[in-house]
This record gives sequence, C-alpha cells and structure tokens, in this order.
Amino acid sequence: MSASIPPAGDPALTGPGDPEHDPRASYALEPEYAGVLTSHLVATAGTTAAVRSPLNDAPLAHIPQSTVQDVAEAFARARRAQADWARTPLPVRERAMLLLHDLVLRHQDEIIDLIQLETGKARKHAFDELVHVALTARYYGRTARRHLGRERRLGVVPGLTRVDINRVPKGVVGIISPWNYPFNLALIDGIAALVAGNAVVAKPDAQTMLSALLGVELLEQAGIPRDLWQVVAGDGAEIGGAIVERADYVCFTGSTATGRLIARGCADRLIGCSLELGGKNPMLVLRDADLERAAEGAVRASFSNSGQLCVSMERIFVADQIYDRFVERFVARTDAMTLGSTLGWGNDMGPLISQQQLDTVTDHVDDAVRKGVRVLAGGIGRPDLGPYFFEPTIREGVSPEMTCFGKETFGPVVSLYRFHDEADAISRANSGEYGLNASIYSQDGARARFLARHLKAGTVNINEAFAATFASLDAPMGGMRQSGLGRRQGAEGVRRFTETQAVATQRLTRFGPQFGMSDESYAELLDANLHLLKKLRRA
Ligand code: NAD
Repeated sequence: MSASIPPAGDPALTGPGDPEHDPRASYALEPEYAGVLTSHLVATAGTTAAVRSPLNDAPLAHIPQSTVQDVAEAFARARRAQADWARTPLPVRERAMLLLHDLVLRHQDEIIDLIQLETGKARKHAFDELVHVALTARYYGRTARRHLGRERRLGVVPGLTRVDINRVPKGVVGIISPWNYPFNLALIDGIAALVAGNAVVAKPDAQTMLSALLGVELLEQAGIPRDLWQVVAGDGAEIGGAIVERADYVCFTGSTATGRLIARGCADRLIGCSLELGGKNPMLVLRDADLERAAEGAVRASFSNSGQLCVSMERIFVADQIYDRFVERFVARTDAMTLGSTLGWGNDMGPLISQQQLDTVTDHVDDAVRKGVRVLAGGIGRPDLGPYFFEPTIREGVSPEMTCFGKETFGPVVSLYRFHDEADAISRANSGEYGLNASIYSQDGARARFLARHLKAGTVNINEAFAATFASLDAPMGGMRQSGLGRRQGAEGVRRFTETQAVATQRLTRFGPQFGMSDESYAELLDANLHLLKKLRRA
C-alpha cells in the first residue's frame, strides 16, 4: 500500500475547515490513502462520519458508515470464509501471525503516524501499541499448537477408555473496541481468535477507525483471507448491538457501563463474552521502595497516553515514612515532562482525544478543587498546546465526596494518599468496585508478592506500573469485579475463542452388564473397582 502521511516531526497543520465543504481546506491524510483503508469496510449507508485529529483539529477523513444490513452481510461473508479457515492447518495459521509480526515492525513509522494523527498521543506511546501487537502475533505464532493442540485426559477405565480433547473454533467472533489504543485493541484479541480458527467481525470506535483498518490491511498482507476479517462502522448501540445479535462470541473492550449492556445481550443469546473494562487502579509505594524508580514508574503509570489507559494508575498510596521524599521526586519529574502536539519523538505526553474527554477530566479536577483538594502539579487545561490538552495533574487530600475518589477519570490525573500500615493500604486499595491492575514498589520482592495475593486486581506489577504483566504475553490479563470477565493473553486468551469437545473411545468393556451378568452383580463389580482405583490413587 502506498502511504502518504505527513512526515514525522511535522505538525500536520491543514487548517480548521472541512474539505468536503470548504475549498480552502485540505486533509491531514491523503484522501487516496484513507480510501485504501476504508475500502475494507462493509459500509453502504451512503453517509460518512468526519474524523479530525486531536493534535490540531485538522480534518483526517470521512468514514463511510454501515447499516444493520451491512453487519448481516459482514457476518455472512465471515461465516463462509471461516469454514475454510477452520480447516487450514494450525501451522499455516501460526505462520501468518509470524509474518504479521514482521509486517508490523516493517511498517512502524506509518502505523505510529496514523495512531498519533487519530489519537493525539505521544509518539512513544503509539510505539508501545505496535510493539504489543508484534509481541502478540509472535506469541500466538509460536505457541498456538501448545494451547490448541489435541490433548489426552484420563479415561474412566484405565487403559480401556481413551479421552481426547479437541478445541473447536467458536465460529465468528464479534470484536468491539475503544479509541484509546486503537491499533492494539482492534488487533490483539482478533489475532488470538484467528489463530484458533475463527473469523472476525469488528467494530472499532468511530474516532479511530483508520488505525484499526491499517491493521486489517497488514493482516491481508500476512496472508489472512480477505473475507475472514470484516469491519463495520457506525453508532455503538446500533452497529455494536447488531454484532452482539449475530456473533458466536463477543470480545469487548471499553467502559463498564457498555460492558454490562453487552453481557446482557450475550446472556439473552446464551453466547460467551469476554469483557475488558474500566479501572481505578492503585499503586502502593512501600517504605523500602527505591524512590527514584517508584517516581519514574508513577509518571509512566499515571500519564502514559495522557492517562487514557485502562491499566494506568489513578491512586497512589505511599508509606508515611517516605511520603514527602517520594512526592518531591514525583512532582519534580512531572513538572519536567515535555508536552506537545507534534508527530515527532520527544514529547512525554500529547493531548486528550476529544472534547468529551477534556470535559470529564476538567469536571473531575474542578469538582475536587471546589471541595478542597490540594493540587501539587498541573490542574489546568492547556489550549495553547492543542485543543484538548490537560496538564499532568497530581493532587492530595482527595476525599470520598469528590467524584474522582472512586470514579474512573481516564485522564492525566492522579491522587496521592498516605498510609501508616500495609494492611490499611491494601484495604483502601481494594475499596471501590473495580479490580483491573495494581502495582507495588518495594525492594523486598517476596513480601511484595505476598501482598499481591491480597489485592483484588487481575494483574499486579511489582516495581513496574503495568508493562511487566501486559507485555508478558504468556500471562493472562483482565479484570476482577467490575473491571471485566475473562482474560486476554496466554492460554486463556486463545482458548476463550474455542469450544472444548471431549471425545472418548471405549475399548473391550462396555458400560453395562455383559456375559449374562445381572444388574446387581455388575453393580458389585463396579463397587469393587471403585475401591481398587481409590487404593491405586487413581483420580
Ligand atoms: P465505550 O464503552 O463507550 O465504547 C467502547 C466501544 O463500544 C466503542 O467501539 C463503542 O462504539 C462501542 N459501544 C458503545 N455503546 C455500545 C453498545 N450499546 N453496544 C455495543 N457497542 C457499544 O468505552 P470508551 O469510552 O470508548 O473507552 C474507554 C473505556 O474503556 C474506559 O473505561 C477504559 O478503562 C476502558 N478500557 C478498558 C481496557 C481493558 O483492557 N480493560 C482497555 C482499554 C479501555
């Protein structure tokens, strides 16, 4: 594909107008390039949705919209393609994933530029996205046979009952993904679904359709049949709902509120779903923590992608003895961050993605300020840097009556709390309804691992914020409580897209009296066998 994106380092400025109606305006992306990407959509509504870049509000593209009939058509195509794909040998599917790994790394500048243009995030955070996709593709490319291959289990009669377990693809998986990591979250679950023999019908978020479509383009280059991965565009409830009505399994990433709706829709149809939802993630800095390391980690934990990261930290609990020294370092590092709205490397943080995000962040901060919070860093919007910029913000004195105490802000805003003893810290970290990710900083790894077992979080990172678990692809990732259902990554992440089928082959004996035996004698024989098998320690 020939890409023509403004080179990295350029501000990609094109003015505020919409090129559809304003002859002086132009797109920040070549329309031909956007056209190649949107050609992957099943979208015949005859309407388009305008997308603008949060870097500078420049127009990016008009995205053709789908109808509910398009969703039905996408499923019909996907089902036909899936029947062949399920018969494609697993090693062939694995090879496609290894090729995808190489393609993602080869196209990294193009991918990063597009992610930045659509989300506004700093280049290093866009880079994180593609690295995680490459890791996922390589991981399943190397391990799918281990997770999905036929497995032998114990049969009831030793030596005479053979049990094989097959993992059968679900069929067509619906993937509904959000805007915050648009390339990554559009692809990583689908890679696992494909390698397990499924087809995909995806609905990426309306704001970030192009990054997701670039992923589809690369999948095709990696040898994935065109019809196997369908993409539709449109309103969340209407088009997302139409996916839930047709899919054999739904994989959803987004807010807890929408996750509940999806779960209800899946319950009505008795199909499975995995839900990767929100969080209000805690970090614990223990008295023996390496303070420089903890402060560096806290900056990444709180402000990566402007805090629009499901596993980022919004609450930091710090041991009394080191509180002041930690805060001094954390605030100094935050004040030194480079903020910017350009495509090049060097910025530590970009703008938020939209006015809606800016409004939520501003509301949460203003509400807390009105109720007496102390702002130690940031606390204000920066329209001089870009339309949706908000400074990285650290506060202390956040109390339960403030909105941001328990509600996810999903922005560059973090609250600091002192603790006196670790049991109290754990209990406060566990308060609230979420349970996605947590972090512990301590130089005593064994003690931190012991404490981790008491945290209600699906992942716990020790001396790291989130990357250690998230990048360890063999480790399952997902939320407890209101943060989700099911796990992505690892064996769990690929097996969720399969049905388990048990095949038992019985030899010689049968399950009933034989050779003229009465029912009673048969029961006595079974009884004796049960006692014998227990003595032999047979499960
Ligand atoms: P959202 O729930 O509003 O939207 C997510 C997706 O769902 C979008 O594609 C949207 O169009 C679609 N959608 C909306 N309503 C729908 C409906 N009724 N039926 C079907 N689909 C519907 O979430 P968001 O605000 O875009 O994303 C931010 C949230 O996602 C945050 O809460 C964040 O914590 C969470 N998130 C979680 C993870 C994770 O892995 N746990 C990762 C990223 C984001």
